[in-house]
Amino acid sequence: MTAALAELSEPTGELAVHCRGLTKTYGAGDASVTALRGLDLDVQRGELLMVVGPSGCGKTTLISMIGAILGQDSGECIVLGRDVRRMSPMERAQFRGTSIGFVFQMFNLLPSLSAVENVAIPLLINGTPRPNAKTRAREVVEAVGLGSRPNALPGELSGGQQQRVAIARALVHDPKLIVCDEPTSNLDHDTGIAVMEMLRGTGRKHDRALIVVTHDPRIFQFADRIAHMDDGKIIDVTSGGTLGSPL
Ligand code: ADP
Ligand code: MG
Repeated sequence: MTAALAELSEPTGELAVHCRGLTKTYGAGDASVTALRGLDLDVQRGELLMVVGPSGCGKTTLISMIGAILGQDSGECIVLGRDVRRMSPMERAQFRGTSIGFVFQMFNLLPSLSAVENVAIPLLINGTPRPNAKTRAREVVEAVGLGSRPNALPGELSGGQQQRVAIARALVHDPKLIVCDEPTSNLDHDTGIAVMEMLRGTGRKHDRALIVVTHDPRIFQFADRIAHMDDGKIIDVTSGGTLGSPL
């Protein structure tokens, strides 16, 4: 075990995420695929942790669990002090709606709704009255630099602008944890850097934890730490900035 991994076994009160021995197998019998094989990971509040590893190693499965979208088969997954395993599907949905922002690789915006309407969705689901939701959504759309296009449909926006809308939607309910699945993989270099600057800025300012799955070495500079995954486990943790430097 490396020093970095040993360090992972010393949880503190400041943890946003605490995973131990997580396992997940999809399907059954001959067709089953084991995606996580006893994974350990801690993420501090205010930290930006990147997760890297080959395609199929379990990155999306891991962050779906941390994002309270998917349940584990075994092991412990404590997110913002809550045991995800003990939550009912309804409690998970409420937890996501109050505490977690999820940014998807393909943006996942509703094409017939404007930028502001897309961003307002989490608030409307949480029961915020429509006028208040719209006002708040408009503020966040402005904060991500789209103040001049609040009523544009996703199809009228560039990839970078759509990802900004998706980030605004992930921020609108002021979550303590933001989880991003390859947020820059559909963006050109400059736009990817701008999106990461925005994400890191919001993490620092509001003491949010950010977990960013990526294949994209251009953005490693934004990480506090980089967790390296292979075959359903974290095999090493290095400091951000470069892939090579040990903690
Ligand atoms: P990554 O995001 O690192 O590419 P995933 O977590 O998506 O990895 O997938 C890990 C493994 O689990 C892969 O072998 C993938 O094919 C499998 N897998 C992921 N989701 C499902 C699913 N819903 N049903 C069956 N197998 C799945
Ligand atoms: Mg994936």
